[in-house]
Amino acid sequence: MSQSSLVPLPLRPDLDFIGRLVELAGDSFTKCYQCGTCSVVCPFSFQGTGLPRREMALAQWGLKEELLDSPNLWVCTTCGNCARVCPREVDIPGTIRAARELFLLERDPSRELATAFENTSRHGNPLGQSARKRADWIAGAGVEVPIMARVQRPVEVLFFTECYWSYHPRGMEAAQALARIMAALGVDWAVLGTEERCVADSQRLAGESGIFEEAAAANIATLGNYQFGRLVTPDPHAYNAFRNLYPRMGGTYQVQHYTQFLAERLADLALAPIPSRRVTFHDPCYLGRHNGEYEAPRRLLEAIPGLEMIEMGHCRANGYCCGGGGGEIWNSGFTKEHVDERLSEVRVREAIASGADVLAVCCPFEVSLFEDAVKSTGHQGQLAVRDIVELMDESLRAARN
Ligand code: SF4
Ligand code: SF4
Repeated sequence: MSQSSLVPLPLRPDLDFIGRLVELAGDSFTKCYQCGTCSVVCPFSFQGTGLPRREMALAQWGLKEELLDSPNLWVCTTCGNCARVCPREVDIPGTIRAARELFLLERDPSRELATAFENTSRHGNPLGQSARKRADWIAGAGVEVPIMARVQRPVEVLFFTECYWSYHPRGMEAAQALARIMAALGVDWAVLGTEERCVADSQRLAGESGIFEEAAAANIATLGNYQFGRLVTPDPHAYNAFRNLYPRMGGTYQVQHYTQFLAERLADLALAPIPSRRVTFHDPCYLGRHNGEYEAPRRLLEAIPGLEMIEMGHCRANGYCCGGGGGEIWNSGFTKEHVDERLSEVRVREAIASGADVLAVCCPFEVSLFEDAVKSTGHQGQLAVRDIVELMDESLRAARN
């Protein structure tokens, strides 16, 4: 049998496209044998998208136009639950990311994504805020927040605030809570302030590797001007980039998510009881599944007197996705046209069903996503969404009163 007769006749595999995908994502997708295990655990599984088995088949068969035409390419959040269970160890999020990168070479992204990309390039943050206002949150902290350029000496902790804690009103509240906890601990720390710019890992996952590389080069150059013991960040996406990607680009740091940093210092915090609440925790995909940290956030919550922890059915390695990863935080209008229900709404329903009255989070995208979902599902007053750092701050304040 000749090699060409093995190809089903209606198919016209684009071998060049397959080669370019392999260059960007490795060849694991060529090993997919269409078992469908991935599609069962995808958070969109019950919405009939066919993600990601269908897209892996299109990639494997080199059906470029069909893959680039698929709305699923932009619905996927790169949450990674599919890859966790794939018996062939296919790098599904990596393949989706690579296909997005090839898409952007020829086509335009959604208007929302284009705006986020442009804002990141022009202003150093996807929200389109002025770079000069990046440190404005400091004014409301109620404690001194040292700025690295003014400190002029090595510090123990350089805190990389990232965009949503710098600019989003709910993120700023969390940043201010963290500052008060750092002060209570007496940590020798500082922030970059206006010198910081977006890490851009979500833009990378949305296919914009150019923006990511440019941002990484700028951040690595800035960080190179200072001496610090460790880098601490509240953003699981920034944590992912600092941990896994920056070292390949010349930026190697001892990096921690803020929950890991605080979990090591629990013994030094005088936490007092807060009004009793039943709390459930949402594992961020890029802290948990992609980077293996499940315990630090739970240790913090369990240390706060007054909180009773309840786990949802989807937790830890099988945690559900908030719907904001992979750049989807900026693409919700597009996604809404192609799915029945937003993932944040599904997750809020699961939290309500668990019996919790607080949904605790530790990713800067999640507070606003879930607060919107609480409203859109009609659960106002039943479920509060709080960053873990806000609950800790509340407990420390209770100790002082
Ligand atoms: S689980 Fe892996 S091998 Fe099975 S269909 Fe999905 S990608 Fe292919
Ligand atoms: S990465 Fe997540 S959203 Fe994307 S296909 Fe896999 S399970 Fe589904």
